[in-house]
Parts: sequence; C-alpha cells; structure tokens
Amino acid sequence: MKQLTIDPAASGLPTRNHTGTKTFPEAKTTRVHPSNAKEEDTNATLYFIGTATTLLEWEGIRILTDPNFLHAGDHVHLGPGVSATRQTNPAIDIEELPRVDAVLLSHYHEDHFDRLAEDKLKRDLPIITTPHAHSCLTAKGEESFTSVHALDFFESLQMSFIHSAEQATSSKRPSIKVTGMPGKHVPPGPLAVANDILKAVPPTNGWMVELGYSDSSSQFENCYRIYISGDTLMIDELKEIPERYRGQNIDLMLIHLGGTTIPGPSMPLLMVTMDAKQGIQLMELINPDVTIPIHYDDYDVFMSPLNDFKKAVLEAGWSDKVVYLDRKDQFKFNVRQGKGGSAETSADSGLLGEQLGTQAVG
Ligand SMILES: [Zn+2]
Repeated sequence: MKQLTIDPAASGLPTRNHTGTKTFPEAKTTRVHPSNAKEEDTNATLYFIGTATTLLEWEGIRILTDPNFLHAGDHVHLGPGVSATRQTNPAIDIEELPRVDAVLLSHYHEDHFDRLAEDKLKRDLPIITTPHAHSCLTAKGEESFTSVHALDFFESLQMSFIHSAEQATSSKRPSIKVTGMPGKHVPPGPLAVANDILKAVPPTNGWMVELGYSDSSSQFENCYRIYISGDTLMIDELKEIPERYRGQNIDLMLIHLGGTTIPGPSMPLLMVTMDAKQGIQLMELINPDVTIPIHYDDYDVFMSPLNDFKKAVLEAGWSDKVVYLDRKDQFKFNVRQGKGGSAETSADSGLLGEQLGTQAVG
C-alpha cells in the first residue's frame, strides 16, 4: 500500500495567492442521520460546496473533493465539441477555502477540476487521482503539480497525519485510507471503444475513503467508511465493491447523479453519469447506512433532476436512508473512536513506556 505522511500544521491555505485567515465555512443548515441524532455527538463534517465539491473535516484533517469553483454562466469543455454551462454558484469561492491537507480528484474533467483549480491551487498540494489525471497534472512544465498520487482500481494509499500537540499523547495517528473504486463514464460497448480512441471522456475513479487510525507499523484500523461513486454509470464492475467489502459496513455513500447527457463520439445523446433509476440500483448494490446525492443540478447537461431521485427514493421506501444537502449545507456524523484513538493502552505509548521504565528501575 502506498503511504503519504501529511503534517496539517504545514499544509497552509490551498491556493497560491491566498490571503488572510480562513476558517471552515459556516453552514446554512446542518443535517445529521438519523434526523433525530444529536449534533453534539458528532465529530466529523462534510460541507457541500457544489457539483462534486465537498470539504471533509475530521480530527483537524481537511480533504477537498473534485474542486469546481466556476460560477453560473461559466462554460466548461467536456470533450471534443462538447461544452456545458454552469447553472449554479459554488457555496464559497476558491479563495475562501480554509486550510486543506489533500485533494481527492475522481477524474480530469472540467466540472471536477476547473481552470480556477488548475490556475490557483498550490503546486505542492497533495492530489490523489487517476493515472490519467496524474499524467495530465504532472506534464505542465513549470506549472506541474508536484505531489500527485495515482491510484488504479482497488489500489490503496494511506495518508497518515502528524499529531497536533493535543493528540501527542496518543500512540495512534489519525489516518485516511483511500482506495480507487471502479468507474466508467461511458457505457460499455462500441462507444467505449470509440471513446478510448478519441479520449473524449477521461477514465474515472470512485473512492473508498476510510477514516481511522494507524500505529507505528502503519497497521490501519477503520472507524468510518465512505464510498464516493465518482462519475460512473451503473456497470458490472461495481458489483465487485460489495464482494470486496463483504462484512464491512459502508457508513456513507456520496453518489454522483445528474444523468449527465452529452453528444457521444458519433453524436447520439449519451448518458455518462447515473440518473435517478441507476442511483436507486447503486443504493441497492452498496447498501450504505446513509446516501447523500451530489453532482445533481450544476450544469445544463445534467438532465436528471434531483426531484426524480427523491421520487424514486420515496417509491423504494428509503427516505430514512437519504440525506439531501443543498450548497452551503453540511452533514455531521460520528466517526467511532478507534481502540487506539485515545491514549489508553498501547505497547508503544509514551505513558505506558514510562510506567515500564519505572518498573524496570524499581
Ligand atoms: Zn461530472
């Protein structure tokens, strides 16, 4: 497994020209799950910025997903002859981001990594992404990003975070294990072959993001598991996910909906992200405790409105399994404290070491 060590104290603000002190954005509404859960029992936050852009905060660590900060009326290029117009504004501007420790980029498409991200993000900001996006982001000459980490399907990277002063008594570091999940932006068949030739729509990853703790030997203990679908269609390869995670709970699923429809290589209308119906199928397949739809109304090529999904959820009788976030809303949740999350008992903890030392002397 690939390893990456990050010191949040050294991460700093995420853009090159960031000024002032930026705090975690204030939410318009806070949601929890189930809806009667106590907000004070939560210790992690997912703030929805727009499109597939979210900001995750836990243990003082901040991860940004698919940075898209363009405004309503701005255009993106999605392939040869294919463009789209943004219909919404992001909850915050890129310059308003607080400190960010790493970026998770599902694929190199302009509604996920726009020209603002491309121009403004600090070159040494760690970015975890697909092998395709890695080759694009590191081939920009002097403008290349310098900390890009590629993950293929089912390949993992473990980010370990250097302790803050308050956490220094614990022997276990907060860690995030990220695993590439399969995804296909183009339906299998002749169009996929044409797409491979044209490179029109880039390959995409989903993610399994596991929040947990690791010890000095980098042994990872999961405490909360988040599956992010990425811009995929409902394809057979996704069936491998519940097989690989059999007996392991998926706590949260972020699903990229929208039913994005673009002219295909031979110009028929081609749906390249899940619509409401496929969203329901994915819920059935993954069976997470809670699902949050994202990537649902931000561009004019998103043809499947969120209301279609809401209706389908209602019909399936799953309303208590879905949380809806508007831009500027946040979801708060509880990451179970790992066995080593507190300074209790661990062979290599400083406290225990001292006690042993005392015993040896005595
Ligand atoms: Zn997209």
